[in-house]
Amino acid sequence: MQTKFLLEEHQMPKYWYNIQADLPKPLPPVLHPGTLKPIGPDDLAPLFPMALIAQEVSTEREIEIPEPVRDVFRLWRPSPLYRAHRLEKALGTPARIFYKYEGVSPAGSHKPNTAVPQAFYNQQAGVKKLTTETGAGQWGTSLAFAGSVFGLEVLVFQVRVSYDQKPYRRAVMQTYGARCLPSPSTETAYGRAVLAKQPDHPGSLGIAISEAVEVAAQRDDTKYALGSVLNHVLMHQTVIGLEAMEQMRMADAWPDVIVGATGGGSNFAGIAFPFIGHGLRGGAKPRIVAVEPAACPSLTRGKYAYDFGDTGHMTPLTKMHTLGSTFTPPPFHAGGLRYHGMAPLVSHLKELGLLEATAYTQTECFAAGVAFARAEGIVPAPEANHAVKGAIEEALRCKREGKAETILFNLCGHGHFDMAAYDKYFAGQLKDEAYDEKELAMALAGLPSVPEPA
Ligand SMILES: *Cc1c(COP(=O)(O)O)cnc(C)c1O
Repeated sequence: MQTKFLLEEHQMPKYWYNIQADLPKPLPPVLHPGTLKPIGPDDLAPLFPMALIAQEVSTEREIEIPEPVRDVFRLWRPSPLYRAHRLEKALGTPARIFYKYEGVSPAGSHKPNTAVPQAFYNQQAGVKKLTTETGAGQWGTSLAFAGSVFGLEVLVFQVRVSYDQKPYRRAVMQTYGARCLPSPSTETAYGRAVLAKQPDHPGSLGIAISEAVEVAAQRDDTKYALGSVLNHVLMHQTVIGLEAMEQMRMADAWPDVIVGATGGGSNFAGIAFPFIGHGLRGGAKPRIVAVEPAACPSLTRGKYAYDFGDTGHMTPLTKMHTLGSTFTPPPFHAGGLRYHGMAPLVSHLKELGLLEATAYTQTECFAAGVAFARAEGIVPAPEANHAVKGAIEEALRCKREGKAETILFNLCGHGHFDMAAYDKYFAGQLKDEAYDEKELAMALAGLPSVPEPA
C-alpha cells in the first residue's frame, strides 16, 4: 500500500489558479471607508506594489509564477501528499484519508508560498522594507525568510500574547534578519493609543495590522505585506491544491470531502479553490469543509457584512464574515486563527453555498492532533489541529454510515514551535475559553453602515 505521493520538481505548478475567473457571481467591490465608493488600484498603491494589486483584481484564470519565485519554491516544493493508513486503522474507518503536508517549508507552514512571491514583487518594484503583523509567528517567520532571500528589511508586529508565549518564533525571525516588536507597541501612534487605554492589552491581529499599515503608509520605500485574507494571497496558496490534484491522480483517487483550517482563509483556499474551480467548470464537486476555532468563529457566528480589516480602521471596507473589527478573541493557542474576519473570497463562496463551515474548541482539536501524531508521526501546529479534527470527524461519520469516502485535508504546518501549548494540554491546563457574547454583540453593533447597492 502506497503511503507517500511525490511529484518531480518539473511537475511543480507554473501557474497560480485564480478562482475569480470561475465565480458564478463576482465578488462584491472593495469600498473606500470615506466615500463608500469602490476603490481603485491607486488607493492601494501606498501599501502594495502594482503587480500584487493587479493580481488582487484579476479575473484571468491562470497567472504565471515568475521563475525566481519557482526557484525559491524548489527548496521544499512540490510538498508531499500522504495516505494516512495508520490513522484510518486507528479510527476503524472505511474512509480513505489523504493529507497534503505543508510543514516541509523553511518556516514549517504554508505561509512561505505567498511570502516569497510578495517579497519578489516588492523587490522588483524597488521597495526596501516590508512591515507586517504576525499572530503565532508563522507569517512573520515566513516573511522574514522571504525578505532575507530577496534582500528586503522586514519589521514584524507580533500579537503580544503570542510574543510572550512563543519566544522561539521571534528568535527565528531574528535569525532571518527581521526585527520583531510586541503589538500593541510604543512605536506607532495607534499602538500608543491602545496602550494608553489598556497597558496590559493582549493584542490582536487587527491591532497589529493597524500598526504595520501605519508604518508602511508613512514611507515611499516601505510597503506592507499581509499573510492571508487578500485575493492575491489566497491565489498564491493554490500551489497546494494544484499539486494535490496531480497527487490524487497518482493515487488513483479523488476527494469526496476536502477539509481545511480557517484563520484568514489562505491555506484552506490553497487546497480547496483548485478543486472548487474544477467543479465549477463541470468536474466532480467534493464537499468543502472549513474548520474554525469555536473561540473566534467568523464563518459560523459572524455576520456577512462590510467591515474593516483592522482594528484601527485604516484599511478599506471588504464584505466578509466578520465578528466586528473591534472584537478581541480570548487568548487561545492557535494564534494563527485569531482574526476577526474571513477572506472575502471564502466568505463569498460560503454565501454561494459552495462550502460549509464548522467550529471546534481548542481542547478537542488538541486531542485530535495528539491522536494524529501517535498514528502518523507528524506533530501538527495547533492551527492544523482544527483540520485534523475536521477530517477525523468526517472519517468517523463515514464509519457510522458505512461509507468508503475519500477525505483530503491540508496539514498546513508542524507544531515544533508550539510545544508549550501541547505541554499545557497534557498538564490539563488548556481551557476552552468562550468569547464574551456581550463583546461580540458590541463589536457587531459597531459595524460600519454601508447601504446595499441598488
Ligand atoms: C497562519 C496559519 C493559519 C491561519 O491562516 P490561514 O490564512 O487561514 O491559512 C493556519 N495554519 C497555520 C499553520 C498557520 O501558520
